[in-house]
Amino acid sequence: MSSPPLFIDPCGLAFDIDGVVADTMEVFVTLARERFGFEHISKDDISCYNIYKCLQIEKDVLDELVCLTMDDEHTMQIPPMPGAPEFLTEMAGAHPLRFVTARIWSESITEWLYQTLPEVPRDRISVIASGAPEKKSEILKELDVRYFVDDRTETCLQLKESGIQPLLFIQPWNRNDSYDGLIRVENWAGLKECVLLPNPKLR
Ligand SMILES: [Mg+2]
Repeated sequence: MSSPPLFIDPCGLAFDIDGVVADTMEVFVTLARERFGFEHISKDDISCYNIYKCLQIEKDVLDELVCLTMDDEHTMQIPPMPGAPEFLTEMAGAHPLRFVTARIWSESITEWLYQTLPEVPRDRISVIASGAPEKKSEILKELDVRYFVDDRTETCLQLKESGIQPLLFIQPWNRNDSYDGLIRVENWAGLKECVLLPNPKLR
């Protein structure tokens, strides 16, 4: 499905972190393979956002895997999505970076951002932990965010209803969701094409 051309002013842009900036499920599948012996598993097996519905793994094991993936130690091991650090570093040259995560705690993922974006001054990075995806729209409205990049289709639909333009960042768990009218972004190179970054030479 193609998306209409869009030119986003980065002033009004903010980001989800897990599944958009952070390749969090890479750590999840590595732990599933190495700690629990699910050697067959890959990110492509995560075909829906609710992992309990699409993975043939016991609930208790999935609970443990999720906890491990999100703990402080493993959070710091998450690789960034390709192109994200370069884009965000460039954007931070002109605009502060704003992130809203559904995580309960912001500390470890904020440290992760500092580690991932070493050239961005720390006071240019702000992270709000909403604790639940349903709370994002209210927070984003308070922040005057107009565009938000997220990998959870339900969140994107909710944002759209509340007047914020969502950009669905494509991942195996949302690729098959067929909702008309959502702008889909395949990767960070695709996102860069629609954002008016400050330095034209870098575009
Ligand atoms: Mg996410």
